Amino acid sequence: MDKNPVITVVGSINMDLVTLTDKVPQMGETLMGTKFQTNPGGKGANQAVAAARLGVHVKMIGCVGKDQFGTELLHHLQNQGIDTAHVEQVEDRTGIATIIVSGQDNSIIVVPGANDHVTGDFVETRRDIIAQSDLLLLQLEIPLEAVRKAAQIAKENGVKVILNPAPIRDLPGELLENIEYLTPNEHEYRLLPSHNEELHKKVILTKGREGVSYYEGNQLVNIPAFNVSAIDTTGAGDSFNGGFAVGLSKGLSLKEACQYGNAVAALSTTRLGAQTGMPTANEVEAFLK
Ligand code: ADP
Repeated sequence: MDKNPVITVVGSINMDLVTLTDKVPQMGETLMGTKFQTNPGGKGANQAVAAARLGVHVKMIGCVGKDQFGTELLHHLQNQGIDTAHVEQVEDRTGIATIIVSGQDNSIIVVPGANDHVTGDFVETRRDIIAQSDLLLLQLEIPLEAVRKAAQIAKENGVKVILNPAPIRDLPGELLENIEYLTPNEHEYRLLPSHNEELHKKVILTKGREGVSYYEGNQLVNIPAFNVSAIDTTGAGDSFNGGFAVGLSKGLSLKEACQYGNAVAALSTTRLGAQTGMPTANEVEAFLK
């Protein structure tokens, strides 16, 4: 039997602090909200959970604070079957996102905290973990230097890299050279440099309910999304990235891995919450039958 693939995620780990309210306060105003909840989040952790639910071995590299949220998030990731031996608890606060939800709208403030301790030097201390992986999954919620370093180590060791460029920012050419696939959504795609042909060859564009598309030579390939009754698309992109990474790590073709990612993401939109809505391998298999 094939060895279970190992996917390493170098990325953010946050606690989402979600406040539901009928009306959003003006600066200086105090209002009564309707509900409060804390949800594990951060794109790195979300994608790690998406992949782990699908049954592959996932190693997380990142930092949380020496606070209650940090300890809680470490336990949470471990409960999801994720190897957290390479996550460090540092002298800082755990990263948080304050999310105010009012009707269909939300506003978000992210404070990176411990995620900013994931530096290039920190990643260097985890070189062997990256080098021994089957695939490396990256996002942009940690310092760019760390993303660059991780991709470089992967490239040196023949490990394929998927970079989900979220939140979007300028990407150095050297980083792009070291990655295999770039997975922007439509908003992020519009902000990529338009005349870099090498870059566009690597793009797997996610288009919400339209699915994904990419170029094969000069040919545009569209992989339609699954038709589901979506109730919460939070974390759809993270679910796609987790599923896509698992598909590739198991040796699926690019097209098949996109279909698998679409299925994982579609299922996640039929349930509430980012991480809580992510399906297991069995659920995806049953859905695809
Ligand atoms: P993000 O969540 O990063 O903004 P997208 O909105 O592009 O990313 O969604 C990512 C993927 O999730 C899509 O490519 C698709 O596979 C799936 N998806 C998103 N919305 C839906 C939907 N309404 N129905 C089915 N699949 C969806």
